[in-house]
Amino acid sequence: MPDGKTHDKITVIGATVAAPVWWHFAQTPVDYTLGVAFVGATLFSGMMLSPDLDLNSSIYHRWGPFKYLWWPYQKIIPHRSRLSHSFFLAPILRVVYFLFIMWALFRIVTWGLTFAFVIKRNELSLQIWDGMFQWAETHLAHTEWMVAGIVLGAALHVGADICWSAFKRRRRRRRR
Ligand SMILES: [Zn+2]
Repeated sequence: MPDGKTHDKITVIGATVAAPVWWHFAQTPVDYTLGVAFVGATLFSGMMLSPDLDLNSSIYHRWGPFKYLWWPYQKIIPHRSRLSHSFFLAPILRVVYFLFIMWALFRIVTWGLTFAFVIKRNELSLQIWDGMFQWAETHLAHTEWMVAGIVLGAALHVGADICWSAFKRRRRRRRR
């Protein structure tokens, strides 16, 4: 497999190439915030939400003190399995996992706060949840481009892994 640095480079090159491609297909008048959402999501997906979060990898440590949020993921998901290294299922699963962990964390923190403050944590949870869905509904194009970017970021990684394995297999065969 290519190392973390190579994957980072591939992500940056991929996102750089994706920008003019997006621009070519963008409807006029061009809404550049959609391009930013697409390129930003591609970079975030490749550099932070990488498939190699299933391993004690440089990506895992990139999360700093928040890396522990990914610890259960790393333990549960077998390395390079379809659950982490596939084109559609894996990136969607990572987003769902991340949202779930954030939700669980929010529930725990607000539960702790109820001992010191009066807060309606159930209402607050619903409000945040509703707010997120409303944003996605009113910014449908942004949401779609963000999903496309997250899928592309993962695809660049998985594609590179597949090419690398195929290349190594060929070289090994030639040596024989
Ligand atoms: Zn990988």
